[in-house]
Amino acid sequence: MSDSVDTANAGAGGVLEAVIGLEIHVQLATATKMFCGCELSFGEPPNTRTCPVCLGLPGSLPVANARAVHLGLMIGLALGSELAPRSIFHRKNYFYPDLPKGYQISQYDEPLCLGGHLGAVRIHRVHLEEDAAKLIHVGSSGRIHGSDASIVDFNRGGTPLAEIVTEPDLRSPEQASEWLKLLRSTLRRLGVSDVNMEEGSLRCDANISLRPAGTSGLGVKTELKNMNSFRFIERGIRAEIARQAEILRGGGQVVQETLHFDPASAAITSLRSKEEAHDYRYFPEPDLLPVTIDPGMIDAARADMSELPAERAERLRAEVGLNAESAQLLAFRGELGDYFEAALAAEREPAPEPQTLANWIAGELVARLAEGEDPAGSRVEPGAIAALVGLVGAKRVSVGAGRQVLDRLVSDGGEPEAIVEAEGLAAIGGGEDLAAIVAAALQANAEAAERVRGGNAKAIGPIVGHVMRETKGRADGTEVSRLIHEQLGV
Ligand code: ADP
Ligand code: MG
Ligand code: ZN
Repeated sequence: MSDSVDTANAGAGGVLEAVIGLEIHVQLATATKMFCGCELSFGEPPNTRTCPVCLGLPGSLPVANARAVHLGLMIGLALGSELAPRSIFHRKNYFYPDLPKGYQISQYDEPLCLGGHLGAVRIHRVHLEEDAAKLIHVGSSGRIHGSDASIVDFNRGGTPLAEIVTEPDLRSPEQASEWLKLLRSTLRRLGVSDVNMEEGSLRCDANISLRPAGTSGLGVKTELKNMNSFRFIERGIRAEIARQAEILRGGGQVVQETLHFDPASAAITSLRSKEEAHDYRYFPEPDLLPVTIDPGMIDAARADMSELPAERAERLRAEVGLNAESAQLLAFRGELGDYFEAALAAEREPAPEPQTLANWIAGELVARLAEGEDPAGSRVEPGAIAALVGLVGAKRVSVGAGRQVLDRLVSDGGEPEAIVEAEGLAAIGGGEDLAAIVAAALQANAEAAERVRGGNAKAIGPIVGHVMRETKGRADGTEVSRLIHEQLGV
């Protein structure tokens, strides 16, 4: 499923293929910062969650956060990485106003986790580091000497991050954002982070290059920095692919650099020419001990992990019997999966067929809720939708009437049986009543009846519609169709 870019005039063969690797920064859900005891900040007034360590005051000493290492190991286990028995922190030196030490403590050539994969995408590494502080551009309200001003808020400085780096295995913007959604639901399920892109607890850089389709070498790449929504990631990558394709088509060469995509204007601008590792003057952090991982720590990380989305999808498919598409949907939207499993666990009689139950939850119910709303927060108890799907399955309520019952459950809650009773929505069975209604419908739609008799199966529509109107949707569609054919003798 690669996006090929048609470049009829490109030197090599015409068609180009995109190659994409992602670097994802995840804020870890610890109580305190990576190397000091300051609590993580959630929008407190600026510079109220700081100490000598995270302000980088001379003489202060960092201590690695054991909880961050624990969460890092959980990520490594979930991705099938090799967990390094010993890893070390490095100083990554650069000047920036939000980095008062003049370096970020990160990991370099001995990271916590190596290799692994999620779905078809291979993981290169996972390492731990600290977040920088935050520059806030206050603009004209904070002008200094006639210029717009910025202030530094150190509350975020020192927040623990895991950086997850993929191999360049993605081939299209859509595939990149789909995969990132899988990573997000995996991390959310692990409980290692809030993984909220808008709030910056999940941030993604995309590395992009093009190459002649069918070749395996790598072209010169550019890096799109810090995109904060799935839509922007897709649009940014698409715009960058187009930009590179145009350069190559014109016989030019892509320059390796770091870029910014502005979602408002769709413009891509250069932030800096690409830095090399040696520009950072990495060296081992002398104030921190190596991180050594013993089997007890790995056991503890494993014990903290619940079933991951990919495993859940497989279980829902193989053990519960859902089709692959439903299994994946319920697994990756964990709140739907939880609700579905709660509905099954309610053990209502007649028992709902699992696939039909999944369809009603993911289709009918979700359509009646607000976008992204968790059904567990709605008025529809999981047991109630299980009971409703059971009644429909047993043909005691028609599909149409079932939808009306669901409307009532969504607005008022309650039990399907009681609603069916109160509203007179019980299915009209195959008895005399329904046969008489069908006979009347055939008379009222004589022309359509004639065409059905003549072999036009589609002409049955208006007749069925007539019966459904008469019965207020309570008749079972299959039974109505059977009676129509029986009475027409076809
Ligand atoms: P750097 O040293 O520039 O950070 P890395 O080799 O560490 O580069 O890779 C960083 C990210 O870029 C990884 O996600 C990797 O998969 C991706 N990547 C590397 N080379 C390419 C390329 N030619 N095209 C697209 N992505 C690439
Ligand atoms: Mg990089
Ligand atoms: Zn601190």
